[in-house]
Amino acid sequence: MGITLENVSYIYQNGTPFASTALSDVSLTIKDGSYTALIGHTGSGKSTILQLLNGLLVPTDGEVRVFDTLITPTSVNKEIRQIRKQVGLVFQFAENQIFEETVLKDVAFGPQNFGVSREEAETIAREKLALVGIDESLFERSPFELSGGQMRRVAIAGILAMEPRILVLDEPTAGLDPIGRKELMNLFKKLHLDGITIVLVTHLMDDVAEYADQVYVMEKGRLVKSGEPSFVFQDINFMEKIQLGVPKITRFAQKLIKRGATFKQLPITIEEFKEFING
Ligand code: ADP
Ligand code: MG
Repeated sequence: MGITLENVSYIYQNGTPFASTALSDVSLTIKDGSYTALIGHTGSGKSTILQLLNGLLVPTDGEVRVFDTLITPTSVNKEIRQIRKQVGLVFQFAENQIFEETVLKDVAFGPQNFGVSREEAETIAREKLALVGIDESLFERSPFELSGGQMRRVAIAGILAMEPRILVLDEPTAGLDPIGRKELMNLFKKLHLDGITIVLVTHLMDDVAEYADQVYVMEKGRLVKSGEPSFVFQDINFMEKIQLGVPKITRFAQKLIKRGATFKQLPITIEEFKEFING
């Protein structure tokens, strides 16, 4: 099932003098249960794809299938609304979307908006706030009194409160310190192990290598490479040409190869490095 894009193109402000093509003929699949990374230089179309995955945008051409729902250029909002609950989209700098007067109310807003009673929504909100590591003492505080990292986690709890089957994350760790980054990446890993499908946009190739099982590489609105991370990162020259690079350990191995070391294939994690050296 999952989500499929078939020959999708997207043009912003189509039919006006300001029309700008963001995606050209993209076909890809987000498999149920996968941890899919979407990478590409700024402006390559990543955020546009994410908004197609949950029906915020409808394709200009081609079709998007989200579980049983088919989205075509003529689809209307009414047909799409229910997939927004199943595909939770965490925007870049998600904390900017916070608006309620307390942390608890902000997280409870989504489920209430989809018809869950206030008490029930607050029960879900408490559970999700605990999951993202927000202490109970903060539940009745204004979200705007929290640190940036805490606000980001509140925003993520708000999406999790919808109990989505797929969690779509647009650069979720941008601007956080290394500890905050690691905590969030651990949270997504845990959610994935609990059965949630993850779609991650990131510019951190080490995270792609460590967490993802499928990668799509975008360049200028086109899908230019895809496969498992260990496959995608074999082509160092290509990944550097499109200004993405490869994991640190992969680069390091390449330097060693130039000095005479041998690897059975280029490693993308430290575990693989140990396994592949002298292979
Ligand atoms: P990425 O997330 O990879 O940086 P985007 O999907 O945001 O890329 O953008 C892809 C292209 O579409 C870029 O050329 C960008 O300038 C353009 N674009 C994005 N959003 C809009 C918009 N709201 N109106 C017009 N053009 C847009
Ligand atoms: Mg973007």
